[in-house]
Amino acid sequence: MERCPFCRARLRGLNLCSRCGADLTLVQRAERGARRAVAGALEALVRGDLDAAEVSLRRARTLREDPGHGFVEALIRHQRAREQRRVAPALANTAVAREIPPIQPRRWWF
Ligand SMILES: [Zn+2]
Repeated sequence: MERCPFCRARLRGLNLCSRCGADLTLVQRAERGARRAVAGALEALVRGDLDAAEVSLRRARTLREDPGHGFVEALIRHQRAREQRRVAPALANTAVAREIPPIQPRRWWF
């Protein structure tokens, strides 16, 4: 956080705003938590754990709204779509396979 969210004064790494005196400790803590949660979402995305990525992103959004969250959400959606395209044909084949009666071994009675 570079500027005080109340009066827009430059913070220079301080928890207290030098202009309006606002204590920004909790706001800065939430901001750090949101950054950690986004990092967790990206790590989960890299691991391929899309559910965990969504949970981390949701946590980040409860702590702080950021335009970058939309980018992470788009990445998760993209990966979900890729996963569905990869899995869908296999599921379709399974469904089709269930419709086809199993091949009976041919018995020859002489
Ligand atoms: Zn201020």
